[in-house]
Amino acid sequence: MKKRKNSPLIIARPEHGISRKLMSPNALRILYRLKDKGFIGYLVGGCVRDLLLGREPKDFDVVTNATPHEIKRMFRNCRLVGRRFRLAHLHYQDEIIEVSTFRSQAADEPEPVPKEAHEAEPRKPRMLKDDDGMILRDNVYGTPAEDAQRRDFTVNALAYNIVDFSIIDYTGGLADLSAGIIRTIGDPVVRFQEDPVRMLRAVRFAALLAFTIEENTRTALVAAADTIVRATPPRLYDEILKLFLSGEGSRCYELLRQTGLFAALFPAFSSWLDAESEGFPHTRFGEMLNHVDSRIQQGCKVSPPLLLALLFGEYIHEKAERFRRLGTPWQQSINAAVAEFMGETCPIVMIMNRVGLALRDIISQQMRLKKIPGRRPESFIARPDFNDIIEYNRITCGNKKDISKQLDWWEAQAQQQEQEPHKLPNKTRTPQRKRKKRRRRRNADAENRTGNP
Ligand code: ATP
Ligand code: MG
Repeated sequence: MKKRKNSPLIIARPEHGISRKLMSPNALRILYRLKDKGFIGYLVGGCVRDLLLGREPKDFDVVTNATPHEIKRMFRNCRLVGRRFRLAHLHYQDEIIEVSTFRSQAADEPEPVPKEAHEAEPRKPRMLKDDDGMILRDNVYGTPAEDAQRRDFTVNALAYNIVDFSIIDYTGGLADLSAGIIRTIGDPVVRFQEDPVRMLRAVRFAALLAFTIEENTRTALVAAADTIVRATPPRLYDEILKLFLSGEGSRCYELLRQTGLFAALFPAFSSWLDAESEGFPHTRFGEMLNHVDSRIQQGCKVSPPLLLALLFGEYIHEKAERFRRLGTPWQQSINAAVAEFMGETCPIVMIMNRVGLALRDIISQQMRLKKIPGRRPESFIARPDFNDIIEYNRITCGNKKDISKQLDWWEAQAQQQEQEPHKLPNKTRTPQRKRKKRRRRRNADAENRTGNP
């Protein structure tokens, strides 16, 4: 039987393998509360996709027909967030669950014509797009079908209904999920125009799930790759972290390169990568990504400054060499190189100043590791970025025997400091600087009063 437009495919509980045992108990509690109060409550998005694929979801998102204010009245741990679209965050001890109200379709609907004269005051447009078709504001609640249509990819639009534990599929997501396909919902040209970040999301999901990007979606993506710079720089920074810290950074990078997204995001760095240095191609970037991937796959954390130092360290070093050849001391050369790197990267991908400084420290503190024990090793070990400094060294030059020995010495010291902090003399205390005695200057008034010249 043919499926009517807008009527979803429903997969009953016995026909799919999603069990409530695999769900967040908090998310389940929210769904039951919504149901008890007479509202619709679905799990939606990435968690349904991941549960169907047998993967552990990163987070659980709930969607409902209750408005944000109704949600707030129902849950004491609720905070309303978002300016573009109000949604509720329900806070639990170790997780935050996002509960959003069904949104309407991403379509250019004409504004309703006011019937009465008193209604003719200026209205807020239902959906505001800029001249290039990018959505600027979208704050209209909709139906479950509309909500599914405005999501990014078919595999991300599946819903799990708490009423009968069924899966609801409005967009053909289940078929794409079993075929391993990332396909935009609707016209990919329009969807990437509305939100260019969807291009990075397509790459991330394709890499992470080992899916292929459907042909029309890919063609539109390649054609629109240069427009990625229209997304805001802080958002692009967040997405870059998600891509390279996904555990499949190498595969993400491959796709970013093939589609032209990488060159658009990092134009200067990308052309440096394509050129050779002293007759050698730049292969370290790829090697570093492999290291990061294997660490993440082993369950280790990689901090954003360490990630950036590993990925861009060689490039920054080459810049620093240039400053050094001009006679700048090494430390200042690193500072200048990092500043130059930040200056060329941040207009497109906004690396926060704090992260930039931490990245600079990881690179510039490498010299310190060579001095054993050096001055006050205990305060060096007590630095919050000590592990990142060690890790950077181990990954970038850990194979060399003498360096490996140095690192072992530092790590042994760190372990001892952790176990027996009291044994270390004057551990991390910095010697008190003598305060300079300042001569009091008499101010002009006082001078006038005393009649001095
Ligand atoms: P992850 O595993 O990274 O959490 P996810 O698919 O759950 O993947 P989220 O960023 O958590 O991604 O978003 C939740 C859902 O919201 C998505 O599955 C998708 O349906 C929708 N969504 C997120 N970002 C967009 C976007 N830019 N455009 C349209 N829909 C989006
Ligand atoms: Mg998610």
